[in-house]
Amino acid sequence: MRKQQLLIDGQWVKASNGALGEVKNPATGEIIAQASLAATEDIKKAIEAAGCAFPGWAELSPAERGAYLRAAGEKVMERHKEIGALMTEEQGKPLLEAQGEVKKAALALRYYAEEGERVYGRIIANAERDIESRVVYQPIGPAAAITPWNYPVELLAWKICGALAAGCTMVAKPPSLTPLSPFAFMKCLVDAGIPPGVINGINGPGSKVGRQLIENPIIKKMAFTGSTEVGRLISTDCGPLMKKASLELGGHCPMIISRNCDLEAAVEGAVRRSFRNMGQICISINRIYVDQVIHDRFVEKCVAAAKKLKIGHGLLTVPCDLGCMANAEGLAKTKEHIADAISKGANVACGGQKPEGKEFAKGFFFEPTILTNVNHQMKVMTEETFGPVVGVMAFDDLNEAIALANDTPYGLAAYGFTDNLDEADKLAREIHAGNVAINNVDAGVMNAPYGGWKDSGRGCEHGPEGLMEYLEAKHVRVRYLHSDR
Ligand code: NAD
Repeated sequence: MRKQQLLIDGQWVKASNGALGEVKNPATGEIIAQASLAATEDIKKAIEAAGCAFPGWAELSPAERGAYLRAAGEKVMERHKEIGALMTEEQGKPLLEAQGEVKKAALALRYYAEEGERVYGRIIANAERDIESRVVYQPIGPAAAITPWNYPVELLAWKICGALAAGCTMVAKPPSLTPLSPFAFMKCLVDAGIPPGVINGINGPGSKVGRQLIENPIIKKMAFTGSTEVGRLISTDCGPLMKKASLELGGHCPMIISRNCDLEAAVEGAVRRSFRNMGQICISINRIYVDQVIHDRFVEKCVAAAKKLKIGHGLLTVPCDLGCMANAEGLAKTKEHIADAISKGANVACGGQKPEGKEFAKGFFFEPTILTNVNHQMKVMTEETFGPVVGVMAFDDLNEAIALANDTPYGLAAYGFTDNLDEADKLAREIHAGNVAINNVDAGVMNAPYGGWKDSGRGCEHGPEGLMEYLEAKHVRVRYLHSDR
């Protein structure tokens, strides 16, 4: 049986109390590994290691830190196939998608290796001629990352890359459901020579580890991706301690399709972004508002495209479009949302059940599901399902569609399809979300800020903004005593 250890101060160690958690393959139900669960003492040691390593790491020049990150990026690229396979085994997504995710994490290391060198300050003229104000940015201190299981490597990489490039050290807590691939990613950093204590990895239940990370004064910043519910708890706990927190939380993302769109492109985008990773993406399309003139044609084409998606056991069926869901709770919630919609009058245009076949019997497999005749009384149109389900609703007028799109406490991502420039501009300006994609469904790119509005969180990852989350501004005011300027 594979064993996963903790990473503390550059050493791979078992939990001090010997505690282990099971890691299961969601496609088969098999136990594939045992992962050490950090005891209080282990978490303390990891935090102290990050604290001890901080001054030395912060003192390096950005170029020196960048060289470490670039070397780590090389290691990740070398190992992306095996790390991707581990991810598929523990999370259920198709192999090529998992390997692609790991490659994107390598790109994040390279990007932040460069971006770390582009942290510039400012010089500000004062009223007095012999005084100058300088603004400099300095690393905030040891940081902690808590991440979810849907993108086990990428979401962790964004935090580690931003923190390390800024000069912060880190204690990372990957999800206990899928710890293997994130630890394999962190091993690349250690094997690339990043000094002991700069990156530490602990596994364990979020509530216990999270509280200890927040309460320990050594940790100066929390970087969290996960549900809005847990994000709120972290925000509440960090508040009185004045601890900085960036929170990438849940979403309920709308797509608006105008009658003036390229219908084929809209269908392709809708199917891809509703069902990829079995809908277990914070920026998944959860609800589609389509002009009533093209509604029926759009639904017909989407159903045909969804039925063509190949479902498979991620490691055995290569390539495939969809794997299984990651856990039983997600599958149960998906079924509950479908049942709720049907009880309130929705029609199932396709899906709604487990696919047929022996290979799907034990895993959390489910068909991609399109619901029509939906409304905002239904959970599927208002609550995050985090499963392969999308509701499609017709609209008469673009203002009505925008009002429906904004009728949510969330504000993570939104999508619009139109060939009309004025409509594109209206959608981009009037939708309340941190990320709006027009005529495409990839709302995040590495060099532009990615973050949520409203209940979808605060702060950003990606881009220079993602780096600023780990820096503090300092104003230095200098009087030149003997200058004659
Ligand atoms: P979750 O909130 O249950 O868990 C996320 C992480 O937080 C896990 O590591 C977990 O162990 C930890 N945790 C749980 N309780 C905690 C507590 N009390 N204190 C501190 N840490 C705690 O979320 P999940 O089910 O793993 O992931 C799905 C959610 O994540 C969805 O809501 C999804 O939208 C969101 N998500 C958001 C983004 C984004 O970028 N905005 C990206 C991916 C996922």
